[in-house]
Amino acid sequence: MGGEAASAGMGVTELFQLLRDGVPRTRAQLAKSTGLARSTIAVRVDELMRMGLVTPVAEAASTGGRPPSQFALNPGARVVVAADIGASHATVAITDLGATILAERTEPLDITLGPVPVLTWTLETALALLAEAGRPARDIAAIGIGVPGPVEFSTGRPVNPPIMPGWDRFDIPGWVRQHLDAPVLVDNDVNIMALGERATAWPGTEHLMFVKIATGIGAGVISGGQLLRGAQGVAGDIGHVRVARGSDVPCSCGNRGCLEALASGPAIARELRGQGVDAQNGNDVVDLVKHGNIDAIQAVRQAGRDIGEVLTACVSLMNPSVIAIGGSMARVGEHLIAGVREVVYTRSTPLATEHLSIVQSSAAENAGVSGASMLAIEHALSPAALHMLVTA
Ligand SMILES: [Zn+2]
Repeated sequence: MGGEAASAGMGVTELFQLLRDGVPRTRAQLAKSTGLARSTIAVRVDELMRMGLVTPVAEAASTGGRPPSQFALNPGARVVVAADIGASHATVAITDLGATILAERTEPLDITLGPVPVLTWTLETALALLAEAGRPARDIAAIGIGVPGPVEFSTGRPVNPPIMPGWDRFDIPGWVRQHLDAPVLVDNDVNIMALGERATAWPGTEHLMFVKIATGIGAGVISGGQLLRGAQGVAGDIGHVRVARGSDVPCSCGNRGCLEALASGPAIARELRGQGVDAQNGNDVVDLVKHGNIDAIQAVRQAGRDIGEVLTACVSLMNPSVIAIGGSMARVGEHLIAGVREVVYTRSTPLATEHLSIVQSSAAENAGVSGASMLAIEHALSPAALHMLVTA
């Protein structure tokens, strides 16, 4: 079968996959990249415009004469609900299909209240924000939710989440869909932060690790452009890898010498208390570092080296081009990152680090909600979801 026969089957769904990146293209450009006749492209583009998914884009600078019409994704066609539910706070946002936030709210919310109270708040907030953005509920194309524990992505159920009592195997999509008729995607918070970081600061980067350092330590891994979730949804759970320095330090998981027991916010605070420095938690450590406390700076730098020890193995395994350090402890800034770099650049092979950037998260506290939005948009614009919209 020749190329023309194969491309003749290309429908609106496939054409839309080209246009969804938001880059404006002319009919001629679309004909060239698909191999379809211009007349066929014209029909398909018209169909996408009728659905509201594609819109004409005016050319900014014309070189004389009438500029050719260009088309691109219409980000306002639908909206998604994005929720980043943390251990003690939650953020809900309504975004358009270009991930631009239309309305957003963050409030203290205790995850240990259990799934029904937490999801009820999330849902009510989403509906209030939707009204604020002036959009009806039928405009929701998908709902993305991040939670602070391992999730079986295919079913959206948390699996043995250590800090989420009452949530084990709870059917989050099933519950949400009783109230809102839209696809619901659920993932763990570090995975969505990786998606958010990439969308915000590293678009197009195919190999990125996001490392969250807070009360716990975990990583979200994007490899070959795809989030790696693993068999049980715990890929990237690097907090319980043993590090050389901590052989006798007990960890909440029951083992000794785990990375989390040495380099998390509470672990650094505990170490500082042992040296007579008044630090009750990770926030205190951040404040001490910001005020130039030498003991705190040294402790944070050592924590960075411990994290670097584990990341050196990750670099050998995954060969990322970006490692972004986020989570509440990343607010200490360069001292932590310097420790990470010191070890990773010294201990990794030159080829693996030749183009490796180890940086502070740019998305910062927005990484989670931005990633939840990306998760929902990815689904909403996928060929399968769009096919349903076309045939509906
Ligand atoms: Zn442990």
